[in-house]
Amino acid sequence: MKTSIATVSVPGDLREKLAAIATAGFDGVEIFEQDFLAFDGGPKEVGRMIRDHGLEITLFQPFRDFEGLPNPERIKAFDRAERKFDLMNELGTDLVLVCSSLHPKSLGGIDRAADDFRELGERAAKKSIRVGYEALAWGKHVWDHRDAWEIVRRADHPNIGLILDSFHSLSRNIDCESIRSIPADKIFFLQLADAPRIEMDFFYWSRHFRNMPGEGDLDLLTFMKAILAAGYKGPLSLEIFNDQFRGGSPNLVAQDGHRSIVNLMDRVARFSPELKLISSSYASLPAPALSLGVEFVEFTTDEEEEVKLGELLQQMGFTNSHKHISKSVSLWTQNDIRIVINTEREGFAHAAYITHGTSVCDIGVSVEDADAAWKRATALGAAPFAQTNGPGETAIPAIRGVGGSLLHFIDKKSELAQIWNREFEPIGPASSTLNDAGLTRIDHIAQTMDYEEMLSWTLFYTSIFDAQKAPLVEIVDPGGLVRSQAVEGKGSQLRVTLNGAENHKTFAGQSLANSFGSSVQHLAFETDDIFETAKAMKLRGFDPLPIPNNYYSDLAARFDLPKLQLKEMQALNLMYDADENGEFFQFYSRTYGEGLFFEFVQRTSNYNGYGGPNAPFRVAAQKRLAPAKGMPRT
Ligand code: MG
Ligand code: MG
Repeated sequence: MKTSIATVSVPGDLREKLAAIATAGFDGVEIFEQDFLAFDGGPKEVGRMIRDHGLEITLFQPFRDFEGLPNPERIKAFDRAERKFDLMNELGTDLVLVCSSLHPKSLGGIDRAADDFRELGERAAKKSIRVGYEALAWGKHVWDHRDAWEIVRRADHPNIGLILDSFHSLSRNIDCESIRSIPADKIFFLQLADAPRIEMDFFYWSRHFRNMPGEGDLDLLTFMKAILAAGYKGPLSLEIFNDQFRGGSPNLVAQDGHRSIVNLMDRVARFSPELKLISSSYASLPAPALSLGVEFVEFTTDEEEEVKLGELLQQMGFTNSHKHISKSVSLWTQNDIRIVINTEREGFAHAAYITHGTSVCDIGVSVEDADAAWKRATALGAAPFAQTNGPGETAIPAIRGVGGSLLHFIDKKSELAQIWNREFEPIGPASSTLNDAGLTRIDHIAQTMDYEEMLSWTLFYTSIFDAQKAPLVEIVDPGGLVRSQAVEGKGSQLRVTLNGAENHKTFAGQSLANSFGSSVQHLAFETDDIFETAKAMKLRGFDPLPIPNNYYSDLAARFDLPKLQLKEMQALNLMYDADENGEFFQFYSRTYGEGLFFEFVQRTSNYNGYGGPNAPFRVAAQKRLAPAKGMPRT
């Protein structure tokens, strides 16, 4: 099946949009009339430009307020339509979208609308145009695809068909099963869009919050299965209006769009093998990768900074247990955690250091099959990464992740598992328990990015991995709003929180500005006994983020915690949260380098959050300590 995207979905002027759409791999575009009108070239020129990009025009849209009008408005509507048909002939496209009327004079009536469409079909046929009718969720009389289909059915004209749009049907909770009984040849076109589930006016919701399939909460899978069961074989076309995308990069939006379609069709094929109607190209992706944990996190820095970072790691209970056989790369370990510090003067890590300063430049994720994970990621449009390997070094499949950093896939069944023995040699005693403070594994990795990029990286993780989004959390920072989206791999072995900063006055936004781009903001380590861990780290000279007394008065009021425990928590600067599944304890390091910090957590039972209610206290504490760096302090 062909892929297509409406020009309105992509930011930029028409030239930029088309270039990005073609580069992302789409077969065609829906021409949104406004984009055409804003362009200083005639329809023939636009049509040629599109074809020069190797694209076809799949649809011209929208034509509004057509059906159910009394005269003289009715006559005018037909005249308008005729002019659009001529324009379409010059552009070189044969399908137009007519959306259900909002005209104040529109009378309603299924048969009146059917009569109008039959006559429109006659006129369209003379100009070799086909007309697709779409029910807008906020249409005056028609807002349900079942009514639109009844009108098309009664119009009974070969040039009149139906256009389905997942947003309009799913936002209204219209039963998708009703699509299965529509003849495939009468479904002229399919538009796809997802959206977050929020209660609001349909028009406003649609115009500002649509997003790529998989980025929102609508059940696109069920919708798509019904369409394919009906026998639809036409284009899969994205029609996305979204405020976040408008300020984004044309290439990123177009790439995400293509990724979302490939991912959606892969999921459909995976969950409904009976739908053999699906083009085989979508069925050949390796399965979403099951993450088994974070294998390593690599920092890039210089020798001077390495000493400070090493001191901090030492205080946190890590041991510098190994060094690389040929590079200036050291390995710090504690139980299942591996921290790599790279001070090489060439290669990727050094380039990352020059751009971002001391920062996380590489994350290794342990998966069942590293090659399969890499194949899936690159088939979904992730940029592959390869670096020339020195003698004795293993080539590990890698892609570019958030902020240009790397994401390596490592598995146990291939020789990749041997990398730690093969490329690193022990320093001193073999045991890494010498300095153990009880940190067992990486609980989560928090990445900071501009708000505009958040959906993009959410889709990145959820399409490559077998992973789910948690509900979006809003953190009120004195400098503005930060939105936090957690993505969790199946089995919770990989947890990533994506923090979108709306402006650079927030704490997250400041670190974004300081490190010149999206980056890892903090690493959270898990412990089985946070009280013991906090004490052990204190003995090693660790200085936690101080939490003000007010926090503990508030905590006493909110939770029924034993007085002694509360006192101890206050002494250790531990924060607390609980939900219906369990309890959560956390404390933080002070900020290191360009806004990077560490977190220590303990989850009891199945607490599944990240201590969201504590975030404003944490941010306020960090801001109090932050040095003035020419950034506005709020
Ligand atoms: Mg639409
Ligand atoms: Mg956290």
